[in-house]
Amino acid sequence: MENRLAQSDARRRWRLYAIAILAPFLALAVRLPLNFVLADKVPYMTFFAATAVSAGFGGLGPGLVSTFVGAALAVFYLIPPTGSFVLRDTGDSLGLGLFLSVGSFISYLSGRLQKASLHENALRLLFQQTLVSIGDAIISTDEQKTVRLLNPVAERLTGWSSAEARGRPIQEIFSVVQEGTDGVAVDPVDRVLQSGKVVGLANHTELITRTGRRIPIDDSGAPIFDQNGQLAGAVLVFRDITARREAELALAAAEKRSRNILGSISEAFFLLDSEWRIAEINSAGTRLIGIPASELLGRVYWDVFPATVGTPLETAFRKALADRKPVQLENRYDPWERWYDVSAYPSDEGLSVYFREITEKKQSEAALQRLNEDLKQFTFAATHDVREPLRMITVYVQMLQRRLEGQLDTLSDTYITQVVNGAHRISRLMDGLLQFSRIGEIEAVEPCRVDAEPAFREAIDDLQIAIREAGAVVEHELLPSVMADDTHVRQLFQNLVGNALKYTRPSATPRIRISAQREGSLWVFAVHDNGIGIAPKHQEQIFLPFRRLHGSEIPGAGIGLATCKRIVERYHGRIWVESSEGEGSTFYFSLPAAEEGFRA
Ligand code: ADP
Repeated sequence: MENRLAQSDARRRWRLYAIAILAPFLALAVRLPLNFVLADKVPYMTFFAATAVSAGFGGLGPGLVSTFVGAALAVFYLIPPTGSFVLRDTGDSLGLGLFLSVGSFISYLSGRLQKASLHENALRLLFQQTLVSIGDAIISTDEQKTVRLLNPVAERLTGWSSAEARGRPIQEIFSVVQEGTDGVAVDPVDRVLQSGKVVGLANHTELITRTGRRIPIDDSGAPIFDQNGQLAGAVLVFRDITARREAELALAAAEKRSRNILGSISEAFFLLDSEWRIAEINSAGTRLIGIPASELLGRVYWDVFPATVGTPLETAFRKALADRKPVQLENRYDPWERWYDVSAYPSDEGLSVYFREITEKKQSEAALQRLNEDLKQFTFAATHDVREPLRMITVYVQMLQRRLEGQLDTLSDTYITQVVNGAHRISRLMDGLLQFSRIGEIEAVEPCRVDAEPAFREAIDDLQIAIREAGAVVEHELLPSVMADDTHVRQLFQNLVGNALKYTRPSATPRIRISAQREGSLWVFAVHDNGIGIAPKHQEQIFLPFRRLHGSEIPGAGIGLATCKRIVERYHGRIWVESSEGEGSTFYFSLPAAEEGFRA
């Protein structure tokens, strides 16, 4: 490419030199016929024109060539003695000298002018290319606010071509308004011309194009000064920010949406960034904390709530972030004497914390615990205090019965027997009460892996005498492992198999079958008997404490099933019965399965 340019330039130069040589010959051809009129006067007349033409087109070099060729031709053909280069006198020499000087001077001037115009052309070209290449729209005006030029981007945005816009007032080409209004925005050219300084436009400005379309723009204006430092006009630089505006609007809408969602969450929420600063809090959060959002946002959590430093809450928060796992805890904030249920979820943003106040729940739990404790103490004391006089009553009445044997009528004998039975019943009730008062302790036990098989065998060992007395047949499948406590599992089998041995039908050999079936994450155990069965209307109430369907003919305190219910519910399980009266019952209970390979 460059090669071709250089070649065409060289050709152009040769052509200019050829003209520079030919032009004097042409001048001679014009001058020779004039010899009839002018003889040998003003011999160089036409050669000045040849020099001027050659220098005008070609600059210094061709001008000089033309001058010297012209001088040679004039001396040879026009100045006598013609046909030779001899000069007659000083006048001729002066004439030649003058021609050569003037010709050289013309050539020199032409050369300078040509260089200057080339330079100017190059500058203009550079300027135009720069304007075309700039990605921003540019409009320049003179000091009268009349448009001088628009670059292609400005042409595209305004809808005016540079040629059409030239000479028109700037307001006509560059009409801007405040976004979303029809009010005319500040005239930027006016501001530039008045202040003589670079000015930015007001935010959210819209350009109204030639076709009336509105385009959001971002822009600035700058003054143009001439060589003398005089204000000569203004230049406006602007760009279409539609895409940016749309992105901003979409972002603002998304922010508003998420704020609305947060606001509508009834649970209190705040977001901690990775520097533990409170980055977000919803209205439920500020209500619960009682501090306005403006005083919380941006502040480090530990500075706002210094009393949480070093507490389980801090440990849990740091652990959640480090392990990238959610945490949940009940935490007391000492300065406010309040309890909160706190759940924290780690994310790339930081930690999302949901919390609710549970002070009342904690207070009632504590009160309940105290009450349970008091009740346990009372029951223990009461049963202990009652048992002794009761034992005395039983012993003395039995002694009285023996002593008066045969002396009393049948009715009196029955009365005494009733007293002894009543005393035994009270004693059993006391045992039951004592046992039931310990039911609260079930809650305190932490679940661990328990193999149901050995727990079941222990329970059966304890029931051997009853099994033998009842002549019962006990069958069972291999039992699985569960998450519970082994004493509790043993207690469950002891109560249920014990009842199956108690509530039998005299007409049938008692058959008891124990099995287990997997249901999701649970094992459902079944204790089946062929005993007396339970009427449907009693099938729920038998799980309440002290509810018995029988009198003293079958011993029992009525708390066995209530205890079983408390145990399975401790592990989030369920207990229920399916039974038909006179045919038998199946008691079911569910416990969480111990995961394979798990060892507590
Ligand atoms: P208890 O056996 O000490 O009376 P439980 O709480 O164990 O107390 O049982 C409550 C009542 O449920 C029993 O009194 C009995 O009437 C009934 N019951 C329990 N198990 C069975 C069973 N396998 N068959 C028939 N009735 C039963």
